[in-house]
Amino acid sequence: MTVLVTGGAGYIGGHMTLGLVDAGEKVVVLDNLSTGFAWAVQPPAELVVGDFGDSALVARLIREKGVDAIAHFAAKIVVPESLSDPLGYYDNNTAKALSLIRCAVEGGVRRFIFSSTAAVYGETSAEPVAEDALLKPISPYGRSKLMVEWMLQDASRAYGLKYVALRYFNVAGADPQGRLGQSTPNATHLIKRGVQTALGRFPSMDVYGEDYPTRDGTCVRDYIQVTDLIDAHLAALAYLRTGGDSLTCNCGYGHGATVKEVIEVVKRVSGVDFKVNYAPRRAGDPAAIVAKAERVREALGWRPRRDDLDAIVRQALDWERRLHNRLGPPGPA
Ligand code: UDP
Repeated sequence: MTVLVTGGAGYIGGHMTLGLVDAGEKVVVLDNLSTGFAWAVQPPAELVVGDFGDSALVARLIREKGVDAIAHFAAKIVVPESLSDPLGYYDNNTAKALSLIRCAVEGGVRRFIFSSTAAVYGETSAEPVAEDALLKPISPYGRSKLMVEWMLQDASRAYGLKYVALRYFNVAGADPQGRLGQSTPNATHLIKRGVQTALGRFPSMDVYGEDYPTRDGTCVRDYIQVTDLIDAHLAALAYLRTGGDSLTCNCGYGHGATVKEVIEVVKRVSGVDFKVNYAPRRAGDPAAIVAKAERVREALGWRPRRDDLDAIVRQALDWERRLHNRLGPPGPA
């Protein structure tokens, strides 16, 4: 039994690769290295450099590697970019996912784990959002992922493919053993930008909007530690292998932090009081997104073990230092 991990050289997929290898699974990573890194995939995981939309390649891997499950991470993930390049997002995240799902069905792979996103909800209230809430994504990114959820639902009914779609809230932090972290040089995520600013990579950082209807006017997000998130994927794999039915679950902690609160944590943990500018709202940003996260606990038996924003920021900072000082694996230039 082999798990095919698309995007397994990237940030979240790379942590999945580590988690699977740690659990003794056979792993084949399919990644085009557009944003991932070959060094992130360590033996015994095998790296195949290629595109998950290449159906001939995927069909061959399924056949030759004895793939019994696909964990699909490869995607474009930057919300503002999806607004300026929607068709690129629909092509990569939706059309190529159709090809991948078809390969799974035709190749007899009956288990599929999909990286979905809280962006499928769109504008939510300050209340935690449940899986059965209205799905009204406000960005092409969110829509590109929601369409894949729909394809999986229909494929599940028609062909018996079983899937777990995990809707990620804000994934952050790094491998607690220091083997991997968010390595994309131009990542725009709040905690990444914060620790990079604390380390002097940027002279200051921007807060996008302070007129939101939240407790301090800045956006609220539910930050989930990446290894905790991967535990939910490993639980999903076990669930599918023991005959579990198709399922969609939120992955978050059920409480959120504002942008200002996150920046305070970054300053405290790093000990650096960097400059913060207040900038206009960023297009496509909902005011608050917090998970109602009961289903993932009840259906998959998942338990959060690393729900600690200080520790998440410390991991991100430690990883950034590794990249920065070129200790550990060679990072980007
Ligand atoms: N954000 C910010 N400054 C930054 C990066 C992000 O104020 O340099 C805000 C962003 O507007 C959003 C929140 O931080 O309200 C989280 O953004 P991120 O890009 O990390 O994740 P998203 O919620 O967009 O997936």
